[in-house]
Amino acid sequence: MKTAEALDLMQQPRTNDHCLICGSQPDMIGMFVPNDPEAWGAAPGKARLIRYCLCARCAADPTAPERVEKIIQHEMESCHVR
Ligand SMILES: [Zn+2]
Repeated sequence: MKTAEALDLMQQPRTNDHCLICGSQPDMIGMFVPNDPEAWGAAPGKARLIRYCLCARCAADPTAPERVEKIIQHEMESCHVR
């Protein structure tokens, strides 16, 4: 699969999607790209993309990007994805 196809697939809505912050029906799909991918479980030299969804209400919150990063970080730590 090409990268563009993989990206396209990641941006498709999925049945079990929910807003990362409040858990309600999502209105948008976002991609989180960490500055330090290795700290997020990527192999050295490889980029890492983390897909997330937000509802319109949470996406409009100016603190949303900060909260998203914290939530993703917490989830990665609790899942031991390394
Ligand atoms: Zn929400």
